[in-house]
Amino acid sequence: MDERFFLPGPTEVRQEVLDAMRHPMIAHRSAAMELLMRTVHARLQPLFGTARPVYVVGGSATNGMEMAVRCGSVQRVLALVCGAFGERFAEVAELTGREVTRVIAEPGEVVSPEQVRLALEHGSYDTVTVVHSETSTGALSDVAGIAAVVREASNAMLLVDAVTSVGAMPVEMDAWGADLVFTGSQKAMALAPGLAFVAASERLLNRARTLGDRGYVLDLVRYDEFWHKAQSPTTPSLPLLFALDRQLADIEIEGLDARFARHAQMARACWDWVEIEDGAELGLQVLAAEGQRSPTVTCVVCDRPLDVVRALNDEGYVIGTGHGALQRTTLRVGHMGDHSVAGLEALLELMGRVMRGLR
Ligand SMILES: *Cc1c(COP(=O)(O)O)cnc(C)c1O
Repeated sequence: MDERFFLPGPTEVRQEVLDAMRHPMIAHRSAAMELLMRTVHARLQPLFGTARPVYVVGGSATNGMEMAVRCGSVQRVLALVCGAFGERFAEVAELTGREVTRVIAEPGEVVSPEQVRLALEHGSYDTVTVVHSETSTGALSDVAGIAAVVREASNAMLLVDAVTSVGAMPVEMDAWGADLVFTGSQKAMALAPGLAFVAASERLLNRARTLGDRGYVLDLVRYDEFWHKAQSPTTPSLPLLFALDRQLADIEIEGLDARFARHAQMARACWDWVEIEDGAELGLQVLAAEGQRSPTVTCVVCDRPLDVVRALNDEGYVIGTGHGALQRTTLRVGHMGDHSVAGLEALLELMGRVMRGLR
């Protein structure tokens, strides 16, 4: 792979996976389709750490977010907000007619399980939303700890945005006791954008059946019925499914442990570059605190980030600008999916040269 595309989503897609999308169309109500669906269904479950169905939903990851809120929450939502995607989760809940209370963390920080306990003691909520890996800041929430508190202190359902963690690090939906976990195709799964993957607990599905405004296209209950037939409620994106089939087979060959270790190594290489190597000399910082960092995206505090991004573009490389209010003070390096440590190190080396040139 010619590694030049280090955006924190979409990430680089290997040629073999792109080629898989050129497969001719097949009938979506055919035995061939059911075989394909059964294969991908079984291979998705380990990525979520669940024995529950993982639904393949059309649209981007935000469709998973809206499905989560529509089918998983009733009225009172506690939204844990550590950045732009946590805020989006809260906004989706508001626009779906829920009453939302936010617990907001400073940029680069996360909401702790203790803060969640306090919030649950002071209010009554049927649902808690959290983003595992906050792609806008590179901060990683303690979802296991939060899930334990939610279970202990309330009857609320926990909805988890795991968009930049599924496929890069252990996501343990069943062991955590999370009620819904979703991701999208174009992040750590290293596919083209356009699919969301959603897993839901039995009790969340039971709640969904009691809710009247689930709509049609994002109805979890309908997806569950069709999952059992190894079908999709509506015509699925066949090219993306062929690519998914190829990619899940390759992920199985690499092995999940090896894949997670590779992500940990890439993240470590990036943080060391910022804090010990070139970045230390250039006065850079990692925004998120040690111990609360995502393995897939690093948000780097630096001078003139937009100039750095532009200069890298001129060299044929793509990295992310800072998100929203962080645009003039940070840049973001995505190190996820099928990227390698060597490919990332080549980028960092170039970034050092570019930054020194701008001084
Ligand atoms: C990218 C991202 C999303 C939204 O994904 P879309 O595919 O653009 O809808 C949501 N949450 C997180 C954490 C993300 O990184």
